[in-house]
Amino acid sequence: TVRVRFAPSPTGMFHVGGARSALYNWAVARQQGGRFVLRIEDTDAERNRPEWTEGIVRALAAIGIAADDPAFEGPYFQSANIDKHREAAARLFASGAAYYCDCTREQVQERTASEHLGYDGHCRDRGLEYAPGRALRFRTPDEGVTRVVDLIRGEPEFPNASMEDFVVARGDGTPVFLLANVVDDMDQRITHVIRGEEHLSNSPKQQLLWEALGAERAPVWAHLPVIVNEKRQKLSKRRDKVALEDYLAEGFLPEAMVNYLMLLGWGPGDDREIRPYAELERLFRIEDVGSAPAFFDVKKLTAFNAEYIRALGTEEFLAACRPWLTAPHATWAEDAFDEKAFAAVAPLAQTRLQLLGEITGYVDFLFRDEPDIDEASWAKAMKAGAADMLRAARERLAGAAWTADGLKTEIEQAGAGLGLKLGKAQAPVRVAVTGRTVGLPLFESLEVLGRERTLRRIDAALA
Ligand code: GLU
Repeated sequence: TVRVRFAPSPTGMFHVGGARSALYNWAVARQQGGRFVLRIEDTDAERNRPEWTEGIVRALAAIGIAADDPAFEGPYFQSANIDKHREAAARLFASGAAYYCDCTREQVQERTASEHLGYDGHCRDRGLEYAPGRALRFRTPDEGVTRVVDLIRGEPEFPNASMEDFVVARGDGTPVFLLANVVDDMDQRITHVIRGEEHLSNSPKQQLLWEALGAERAPVWAHLPVIVNEKRQKLSKRRDKVALEDYLAEGFLPEAMVNYLMLLGWGPGDDREIRPYAELERLFRIEDVGSAPAFFDVKKLTAFNAEYIRALGTEEFLAACRPWLTAPHATWAEDAFDEKAFAAVAPLAQTRLQLLGEITGYVDFLFRDEPDIDEASWAKAMKAGAADMLRAARERLAGAAWTADGLKTEIEQAGAGLGLKLGKAQAPVRVAVTGRTVGLPLFESLEVLGRERTLRRIDAALA
């Protein structure tokens, strides 16, 4: 059976690139009736923190990679397998596949200064035994090529002459990532290694390790294309927003994220990009993933999100908004929230939101004592003539029938009296009552807000 793995290092916030790797592995495991192994590569004690591990588990659950799904296996922790990593290093030494080296970095640099070839094989045949400070190096072949089978890139060949004798265990005896990663993959009987392109150059070295450790065959590899920003730079946590949790915290729906991430390097082959995960999982073919850099287009992701928000049922939408209607997002007193008023305007907001987090600003006028006045909106709407308009509106609204249609007629006529078209006529009213120039349809908003509060706000704006 197909056994894939997702092997993150818990060294920071869970990255959207990690999420894509996880989703592709998940899709392969599930569609093939295989297993998805979660392995936390936590051997870098200095950079690892337990909260990053918790973040990974939380993020995977959020994107639908459920720990209780039959396809899910683990989590395993790399640190629990250290004895096997050491034992593998000892075997490589015993078989002659690796040797100890006491060269310092400076010595190697001095000897290779003119060529920059990396390690020059100085200790290959010196027959050194282990002593503290001596690194264990793998003896790479001098000639020929190492060929790996990569489902995305064909069968790339790496000339052995350009592969230095690389370190597999440090001077303190601890095995390095390259070796630990292979030993765990062997141990967990991984058949397909699907991971980021940054590991492509590791694959020939790891392939040699699989062979040297006696495996009948190495896994099939698939190195996913790098993810870039709008400047075609590799996404980086210093430059770009990359943490999955940051996107979720702004109000990107997990389903929209999953849909978008699945398309970062792959497409279903027709124009229908927006489709539920179950369908994408069925259509996904790792062989059809491209090798060209994938552009992480936040605008497109946002458009996906808006579509997913629009597609929610009424109850789902209310539930999805809930976190943004309470502290710390709410800008109104806790007991001021009015369920019925919110439900009345929710459908108007649903068609306008791009991010769920925008809901707070759309509806705050209903729950605050006074609107949250946006300075720029105020300056724009309260130009000469605005006061006349507000006075005219106030007069008519005082006795108007309080329905959206009735309110529209009154404001239209108040404006006509001053020679203003509806758009111009409603602008100062909107800012006086909601605090902003853009928002939900005005007349429906006023209907829900009620006469008394509407008039009070117009008075305050005129004062
Ligand atoms: N722990 C490695 C990483 O986070 C995983 C490499 C691999 O998937 O083989 O990049």
